[in-house]
Amino acid sequence: MKDFKTVRDIDIKGKKVLVRVDFNVPLNGETVTDDTRIRAALPTINYLLENGAAVILMSHLGRPKGKKDPKYSLRPVALRLHELLGKPVEMAPDCIGEEVQKMAAALQPGQVLLLENVRFYPQETDNDPQFAKDLASLAEIYVNDAFGAAHRAHASTTGVAQYLPAVAGFLMEKELRELGQLLDNPQSPFVVLLGGAKVSDKIGVMQNLIGKADYLLVGGGMAFPFLKVQGLEIGKSLCDGDLSVPQGILEKAKGTKTQIVLPVDVVVAEELVEDAPHQVVDVEAIPADKMGLDIGPKTVEKFGQIIASAKTIFWNGPMGVFEKKPFDQGTRAVAQAVADSQARSVVGGGDSVAALTQAGLAAKITHVSTGGGASLEFIEGRQLPGVEALASK
Ligand code: AMP
Repeated sequence: MKDFKTVRDIDIKGKKVLVRVDFNVPLNGETVTDDTRIRAALPTINYLLENGAAVILMSHLGRPKGKKDPKYSLRPVALRLHELLGKPVEMAPDCIGEEVQKMAAALQPGQVLLLENVRFYPQETDNDPQFAKDLASLAEIYVNDAFGAAHRAHASTTGVAQYLPAVAGFLMEKELRELGQLLDNPQSPFVVLLGGAKVSDKIGVMQNLIGKADYLLVGGGMAFPFLKVQGLEIGKSLCDGDLSVPQGILEKAKGTKTQIVLPVDVVVAEELVEDAPHQVVDVEAIPADKMGLDIGPKTVEKFGQIIASAKTIFWNGPMGVFEKKPFDQGTRAVAQAVADSQARSVVGGGDSVAALTQAGLAAKITHVSTGGGASLEFIEGRQLPGVEALASK
């Protein structure tokens, strides 16, 4: 991995520092319902403030599709950040333009300014050079602490680095260190748990981990294409994409140390609704008119034993439709097993993290990643544009 500079490697005293953070938090009206991402950025923000910088923060929030939409304003985030920092946070009415220029110019060391959602401009996702230059003109140094957006080559994640010295913040550094350890000599047994709906999102991860992981446990909707290529009836279960993909993965794993472990039983129902009438069946006996919505108890037991034997764990994606009871059982059981394990554990992805948080188990995980997509792309072995754009040591 690239040996990039961090905030520790540059002089920030008296400087204006533009920090890309990931404040893409869930909102209920004007209330931040989960402030994990804001908290995760505090070490960098506090370090900059304590060391005499004037801090200008920028982030995206949701998908406003390049238009100014008050629904996606970062204003509620400014309020929450104010509470967490214990000092005022000025909210800019925009992210570029004359008024923002004036606010940035007037900002003193120790003060914080939050720019409005960068995705109010289509130039953000287009990585437009002029837009990047306009953002860069607000400051003298650029810090990228938005690991969750590092897999995107956008103006605020890569473009700005063309115009300012670019270094990593502490969150970015920590995420890359923790995830990097999974790829560089993970302690064996290395157990990887993948779930969720889309095989296509996780296929690269499986490919890159064959030969590295000892076990790839596959649950959730993405298990069904694997069961299907083995000739099993999967009924109305989810099965997206081309079956040659799971076929290829199973073949690639043959003759390597990696064992791909599929569910042995599943919870099926006729419909994907809360409290749907359901039953547990072995995977050889999935009725043609039903769909598999969770892993069954025998699978929980089997996965649990493998998880208990692990020295290193990576988990991404729910084991079932965990938003709808009772199809949350498999995910909850697996969350408990990962939390109980003594292994170095890294969990990424919104649903897996939510399952841990809801069960009050997040503190038992070595590293809960703030980036779902970014962590998957990293584990796939891809270069993240936001990391590539940082200055080398
Ligand atoms: P992903 O974004 O690929 O991690 O997928 C997460 C989604 O997968 C969640 O919304 C789950 O409800 C869904 N999911 C998990 N297991 C299944 C399943 N067996 N059938 C359909 N959807 C599932």
